[in-house]
Amino acid sequence: MTDKLILYKEHLNSFLRKITKGFELIAPVRNTYGDTLFEVISSVDDVRIDLTNRPILSPKRFFMPQVETLFAYRYDKSGYTFKDAADSTPRVIFGLRSCDTRGILFYDLIFQEGLKDKYYLDRRKDTILINLGCNQPGENCFCKSAQSGPFLTYGYDIQLTDLGDRFFVENGRPRGRELLAGWSYFFRPATQTDIDAQYEVVLESEGKFRHRLDFDAAIEKLINQEVAPAIWEELGSRCQNCGGCAYVCPTCYCFNIFDSPGSEKEGERLRTWDACTFAGFSRLAGGYNPRQDKAQRIKRRFYHKLFYDKQKYNIPSCVGCGRCADICFGRIDMLSFIRLICEQKERALAPAHRRLGELLLEAGIISRKDLDLAIEKQAATGKPLGAQLVEMGMVDKEAIARALGCQLKIPGTAENIED
Ligand code: SF4
Ligand code: SF4
Repeated sequence: MTDKLILYKEHLNSFLRKITKGFELIAPVRNTYGDTLFEVISSVDDVRIDLTNRPILSPKRFFMPQVETLFAYRYDKSGYTFKDAADSTPRVIFGLRSCDTRGILFYDLIFQEGLKDKYYLDRRKDTILINLGCNQPGENCFCKSAQSGPFLTYGYDIQLTDLGDRFFVENGRPRGRELLAGWSYFFRPATQTDIDAQYEVVLESEGKFRHRLDFDAAIEKLINQEVAPAIWEELGSRCQNCGGCAYVCPTCYCFNIFDSPGSEKEGERLRTWDACTFAGFSRLAGGYNPRQDKAQRIKRRFYHKLFYDKQKYNIPSCVGCGRCADICFGRIDMLSFIRLICEQKERALAPAHRRLGELLLEAGIISRKDLDLAIEKQAATGKPLGAQLVEMGMVDKEAIARALGCQLKIPGTAENIED
């Protein structure tokens, strides 16, 4: 079977009906309140599948439910017995947007590293992803800037492009090819005219974005600590700790685990979503909370998504879906944040704080690796950079005094640094 096919729209429902015979089908459905959400569909004819609007929530709950039972336990005379609650049903998610498919690929990185998360991986291995490229970006979409849309070049099992009366169908991975091969009578091979039409749709869509953000410039500003403390304070004062940004985000994955005893003899271990903006997110067993202030939590959130994940996985964990911009009434979303820090005025910066790392780097007192490590640690401790570097044994107080003295043009200090 060729890798590029055509499915006429009049055959779409028949194709989906066939899928429901062998798989659990999940697709975007317009509900009676006018919202579009991913739902499990048992009868294609009883729902209104919506391929126009981006679903208001990402499909992450199908891989890590908001509340899930990891296992049930029971205690009797012979001790504890456990019953695993993991499930793995063969599924097809149809109509994923590119940003959401990229969100799932990011989850793959997270849940496969170190201790592999069997609950996630069991669901993931049995799920076929059918991506639908976006002909028309939404109001807050910026996936083009995040390099995760509006169409994908990898990561999907099948990708569709809407060409008006028909879908252009691309095979991505072998299991996508297998699925299509099973019902090849719905498809015909794509012609050069179809291929040209799809190319035009992609180009046109890329030209329609309202927002163009410079992720690299924003990350650079975080690395160099060029975000004024006043900005973190301002964002912190506007945050209401609602957790909405993390809950709608396709890449946020933090969770809590706790036991829910039904009685003295039995109970369940549960996993629930968590959010780094919650006041208790980083509270430790003794009650100490290293990120007591909202400003510290917001700072950590953006450092994590833009800088730490980029450092660790070579991509920031923002796919540009714009859902945080849809939901945050404080405008503490990624779209507003990147704009804000890229447009902040130099005078708003705190010079000594901002430049200390650069000064020490320039003077060869610390390495870039040391600086990055200290910045990472500092985001957790909230300490000034100088104090953090001293605590980590990377510099002594004299070296910092010399660096700052040089910056402030205190006589005699420049020569010392050059030494
Ligand atoms: S940043 Fe916005 S969405 Fe997130 S917790 Fe704060 S107020 Fe809620
Ligand atoms: S962010 Fe991009 S991929 Fe996601 S819905 Fe908007 S245009 Fe589509």
